[in-house]
Amino acid sequence: MAAAAPGADVESRLRISEIFLSLQGEADAVGWPTVFVRLTGCPLRCRWCDTAYAFEGGQWLLVDEILAQVVRHGARHVCVTGGEPLAQKRCLRLLARLCDAGHEVSLETSGALDVAGVDARVHKVLDLKAPASGEQARNRWENLAHLRAQDQVKFVLADRDDYDWARGVVQQHALAARCMVLFSPVYGELVPADLAQWILDDKLDVRFQMQLHKILWGEQPGR
Ligand code: SF4
Repeated sequence: MAAAAPGADVESRLRISEIFLSLQGEADAVGWPTVFVRLTGCPLRCRWCDTAYAFEGGQWLLVDEILAQVVRHGARHVCVTGGEPLAQKRCLRLLARLCDAGHEVSLETSGALDVAGVDARVHKVLDLKAPASGEQARNRWENLAHLRAQDQVKFVLADRDDYDWARGVVQQHALAARCMVLFSPVYGELVPADLAQWILDDKLDVRFQMQLHKILWGEQPGR
């Protein structure tokens, strides 16, 4: 990636960890060729985080430069992710510009930061933190009021206690009636077949999901 030119409009810069083309590995756009724009930084420290390499580093790029790189990859779907992308306020501007450019845009966010300002055209994927993540206290419950039918709530679950907690949250907030709810096992910790069976036993109206990119390529950055 080329860094922003000296003297450029620093008010429209974001710190970017990587921009790459892959298959969307999760949520409702799973399987689509997708350009991922990974923003640097996250105020959380989930125990099982698989993108800790994005906590720091990266390069400052102008929104125009990010858009140009996205266009070069030639995919309709774009996923803005992190880290925690909303930790950079200018992320909101980037999301709107990507939508203006005609892309199908999704946002992967921890659910810990306010999503009220996210462009209504964006598909939000709200990753609520279960107890075993160590970051349960960071869940910003007010965000649930901003869910639209096109959005998704995702639970990444490490054990049976996490599952019971997530089931309770889904019921308490009637989430399945509001948007798609996704349950995924923590990679390498919870046996996927166990989670699948619990969902079936409880007849939960949620969607089981494995991370497609890890099945295809393992835990490689840029995939
Ligand atoms: S919110 Fe996401 S990027 Fe941040 S620590 Fe948790 S899993 Fe990692």
